[in-house]
Amino acid sequence: MLRATLFAARVHATHTRKGEAGEPYVNHVIEVAAILAEAGAPRIAILAGLLHDTVEDSDEDPDPITHERLVAEFGTDVADVVAEATDDKSLPKETRKALQVRNAPKKTDAAKMLKLADKISNLRAIAAAPPKGWPHARMVEYVGWAGRVAVGLRGVNPALDALFDATYRDALRALAARD
Ligand code: ZN
Repeated sequence: MLRATLFAARVHATHTRKGEAGEPYVNHVIEVAAILAEAGAPRIAILAGLLHDTVEDSDEDPDPITHERLVAEFGTDVADVVAEATDDKSLPKETRKALQVRNAPKKTDAAKMLKLADKISNLRAIAAAPPKGWPHARMVEYVGWAGRVAVGLRGVNPALDALFDATYRDALRALAARD
């Protein structure tokens, strides 16, 4: 678990969150893993949670992380869950967002839990520290989209479902108060 944390910290060393404060990106993946651990998710989901953005977010780095690299370091099971949670960046953003909604119900249980925890972390970030330069409408749209993806992810872990619902409500409330 700590090896995965260190691996993620190194990959994300130069990455920051979109919020005004420029929080280190690794905080996000540790938060996702902590949400999963507290909800009683299996070890494979927690490990994949730590690693879930290493492939997607290192594509422009000098040494991009590949699926093969994750297989070598952490085994096929964990690497496959990460692959399930990784978007195909060759597709346009709107297509990727539509695919997330459509493909959510087809994911394995571990990937569903991971993706739900990821959305929880992202909604918290939107509510607490709005991404730089995002107009209000874009944030409202993002929260709605996260809710649509979550419809296909729920039903595996009741604690995560409940946490998502509470976080979704809090995010909408925070955005309503901000306008
Ligand atoms: Zn993420």
